[in-house]
Amino acid sequence: MSGAGEIRVPVLELFSSFQGEGPRVGERQIFLRLAKCDLRCAFCDTPESYPTPDTARVQMAAPHGPDERPANPLSVDAILAACRRLDEPPGRHASLSITGGEPLLHPQAVHAIAVGARALGLRVHVETGGHRPGALQHVLEVVDEVSPDFKLESVTGQKTPWDAHADTYALLEASGKGLAIKCVVGADTPATDVEAVARFCAQHAPSIPLVLQPATPFGEGPARPTLGQLYALHDAAGRAHPDVRVIPQVHTFLGLR
Ligand code: SF4
Repeated sequence: MSGAGEIRVPVLELFSSFQGEGPRVGERQIFLRLAKCDLRCAFCDTPESYPTPDTARVQMAAPHGPDERPANPLSVDAILAACRRLDEPPGRHASLSITGGEPLLHPQAVHAIAVGARALGLRVHVETGGHRPGALQHVLEVVDEVSPDFKLESVTGQKTPWDAHADTYALLEASGKGLAIKCVVGADTPATDVEAVARFCAQHAPSIPLVLQPATPFGEGPARPTLGQLYALHDAAGRAHPDVRVIPQVHTFLGLR
């Protein structure tokens, strides 16, 4: 391949695992974690994605193959060749999950990778903070599903970009490609905040499920809510949204990456 295949993008890691979050939990996926993030969430479990590492960690074979350390940035051709190697025999993985960092900082590369991954028979799943609707529009036609976050100021410690979220959700609602809107909740998350998010999501993306994800304690981030708190938060969200689910992260529980 030439042209799009020569686009280069900084990669943190590429590996085979099980999806640990949201409605696709348990699905066998190839994970492509792109470097760089323009947010600084208090609960971030991948702060190593902020700078561009000199080399990427690329698993050579699934499930237990050794890692290679190619120099960053990687070409789209190299990324697709690694996906082909990992998905051997073909069909072992349901999809390629493009995550980060914030993958939509690299829309040209994500577009080219998505086209190539689909040609390999992989569904393309994108995870994003939901604050880059312009970049989302650029890739939406060639990806299969998108899972944006709703980042509550009381949880992330950062101002919530309501307007960007509204534009992102409108694009996903219109395209039918919104898998779920994920909202991390902690022990101190006010029920009024969660109800406001649920109302906002129901207004801009009524057909997309809202997933409340209990925080996994990490660094300075929020504590995990108790079961009683989760029931109260679900009740609050359920007053404003027709499809609210509670799904914890399972990869930490399973000891997966
Ligand atoms: S968007 Fe993701 S990678 Fe970026 S700071 Fe938040 S949790 Fe970390």
